[in-house]
Amino acid sequence: MNDIRPIHYKIHLEPDLAKFRFTGKVELLLEVPSPASEVSLNILELAIGKCTLTTEAQSEDCGFSVDPRKEELSIVFPRPVSGEVSLVIDFVGEINNRMAGFYRSLYTLDGKERYAAVTQFEESDARRAFPCFDHPAMKSTFDVELIVGGDLTAISNTAVAEEKSVEDGRKLVRFERTPRMSTYLLFFGVGEYEFLQDPGEVLIRVAAVPGKAQQGKYSLEFLRKALTYCEEYYGVKYPLSKLDLIAVADFAFGAMENWGAITFRENLVLHDPDKTSKAGEERMCVVIAHELAHQWFGNLVTPEDWKYLWLNESFATYFGYGVVDHYYPEWDVWEQFLQSQTQVALDRDALRETFSIEIPGGDHVVINASTAPIIYNKGGSVLRQVEGYVGTEAFREGLRLYLRKYQYRCASSRDLWDALEEVSAKPVSRMMSNWIGQPGFPMVTVEREGGRLKMSQQRFTYLNAPSDQEWLIPVSVRVFYEDGQSKETATFLESKTAILDIGADAVAYKLNDGQNGFYRVRYRDKDNLRELGKLIASKGLPPVDRWGIQDDLYAMVKRGEARMDEYLDFLAHYSDESATLPLSSIAANLHHALVIHEGEIRQGVASLGRTLFERVLESIGYEPAGEDGHTTSILRDQLLWQAALFGSAKAEDFCMSRFSLLLRDQKVHPDIQKSVMQVGASCGSRETFEWFAGKIKSSQSEHERMNMLVAIGCFKDREVLERVKRYVLEEVPDRNKAIPIGVMSDNLAAVSSLWDWYQANLQAIERFHPVLYERVIAALIPIPGLGREEEVRSFFQEYMMKHEKMKDVVKLSLEKLEIHSRMRRA
Ligand SMILES: [Zn+2]
Repeated sequence: MNDIRPIHYKIHLEPDLAKFRFTGKVELLLEVPSPASEVSLNILELAIGKCTLTTEAQSEDCGFSVDPRKEELSIVFPRPVSGEVSLVIDFVGEINNRMAGFYRSLYTLDGKERYAAVTQFEESDARRAFPCFDHPAMKSTFDVELIVGGDLTAISNTAVAEEKSVEDGRKLVRFERTPRMSTYLLFFGVGEYEFLQDPGEVLIRVAAVPGKAQQGKYSLEFLRKALTYCEEYYGVKYPLSKLDLIAVADFAFGAMENWGAITFRENLVLHDPDKTSKAGEERMCVVIAHELAHQWFGNLVTPEDWKYLWLNESFATYFGYGVVDHYYPEWDVWEQFLQSQTQVALDRDALRETFSIEIPGGDHVVINASTAPIIYNKGGSVLRQVEGYVGTEAFREGLRLYLRKYQYRCASSRDLWDALEEVSAKPVSRMMSNWIGQPGFPMVTVEREGGRLKMSQQRFTYLNAPSDQEWLIPVSVRVFYEDGQSKETATFLESKTAILDIGADAVAYKLNDGQNGFYRVRYRDKDNLRELGKLIASKGLPPVDRWGIQDDLYAMVKRGEARMDEYLDFLAHYSDESATLPLSSIAANLHHALVIHEGEIRQGVASLGRTLFERVLESIGYEPAGEDGHTTSILRDQLLWQAALFGSAKAEDFCMSRFSLLLRDQKVHPDIQKSVMQVGASCGSRETFEWFAGKIKSSQSEHERMNMLVAIGCFKDREVLERVKRYVLEEVPDRNKAIPIGVMSDNLAAVSSLWDWYQANLQAIERFHPVLYERVIAALIPIPGLGREEEVRSFFQEYMMKHEKMKDVVKLSLEKLEIHSRMRRA
């Protein structure tokens, strides 16, 4: 019975947007290799009317039963059947309000509340919309047809094949047959959608609710470029005749790569020149490129099982940056990749509570606060390491081979390594299996003896965790000489230790040259760190390496191996730093230190940060200027807020003067709107909050709305903070509830009350979308738990027993709390 496979689905749906229900019929063509008397499909929250077995000769009713726990529909054939058989199933379902399956999305038009109905199926919610074999390996073709109101627009993965009027003023919309694909990539949507389009060999469009499609121009232009890039790089044409970017008001994630019908949160696809910042534009491009890369990595070649989900997400993450870098090299996105992807992955994977990129088990995989940094960020970072190892050319050729070989089929990690090995003639499998198949990552400890470097490796964890794990590490080293010259050398750390000759005349050495490798470096010899310090101050090292040295040092502080004051002293070398990457990272590390520590250390951190940030702001200017570089604009927005937070009167005065313009409905440059609103809230009163609440309600820009939801987490006034928390529960839509809570979780004025608030409102908070609820837990424990460790730990020990699904995120958050407690005590 296990060998029964789907060949084709014909799906007919009639959604009723007034009653939030749909009726459906699926005709499923099956291949039954040997006589079988029953078949099991996945369903969830669907009511089955009837199941019929049809052959050329006749139609016969089948018996069936539903097991809600297993999410299964078992159908009993009237007699054993084999070969190609056709099953027809009638069913009804709810257009739910949970942002999963076939669901409703609320938006306002001319002040009135309206709904669209859309789907979100990854990883196993197609079964909420129609009975199916809901597994990525069960590929099949699909014909979709919808009956919708005559004034509505229906969208699916493929182009419309036929549209005709039917009874009651409704119309039937039938779509072209899809390629062979997995159920989780299917999409259908109905609503008052309008399009902005760009006809070409592939028709590309942005779909949005009335009045907003024009805001898709920016995305559409970038999509055209990205499509050209991907087709050329991958050597495989995009196979469908159209590709839509669909703006969905209510959306749990950032975007979803449904084949030919990619869905997005509005802020990631709609652009408003008065509201969208440069950071916002960059994020739009990175996400569009990410989802586009999925049309090949995921949609064309699909993981054979969910444990190989990294094959989708690592590549999409990697190309998300690669495509943007190709068209906007001046944005330095690879540098930002280090801070927003690699650093986040190193931080997540340094917990004892972690797992391998190739997820063990892997029956269901939930993309959440625990898994995403491993599958996306670490996976993408490891690919960068592979590209560094095999070379750019071989990397591209290997991927082309892999895509050609497995198109319209499924693949595993092994298949990818084999392809890369075939073209590069390097032992890729051997190297990669221990990066993909085991949890954690190494720390390389290095020490100099005369003209030789002694290196050793061990697993890097913040808390003590004995381990004899080893990795094959390509270690690159830049060696510096008296005359100011430097040269790169490399070795392969294959066992616990290795020796590398650098010559007696070397004055300094920097491991992980260019920061392509996924590991931390510990310099045993203080003289070398001092010499590196000089090279940082004189800018004799590039920004990525200046970033890496201090970030590794801060990781050692978190590990309890270096002291906080050592890190702060080392920052003296950055007193003249001007590059965005190291500055942005230092600012983030200092912010972390500020909220963890108390008393004198906190004051020391605040004073150092204030001086540094003010110096940088003086030099780049508080007000955005026409000639600003892209990364300078992004840095300014971060530093304005942090300088004010660290006590800079200048930054606060500047932001408050701009905030008063906003209060009077006057223009403020979009690149500083976020920090201006953060400072406005932090100095604000109850009236300020009411202004935000009114603006959030009336704003037509999700980008602006999200900035305001960040800002309201920054209030300092205790009474206003109580109001903010009530507002989150009662008025903020589900998709955005976690935003202000995340911000409050490191707002020193708010942290102490969050824990009691969580417990008092547990039932309401538990009803958040599961992924967003996990984000709340991940925010609530690590910092708000400081000082109440015992209470928090015992509550969640018990909570985990009852809520098995929350276990991963609770455990990793408790581990972070332990790290923070130790830092505070140190
Ligand atoms: Zn993705």
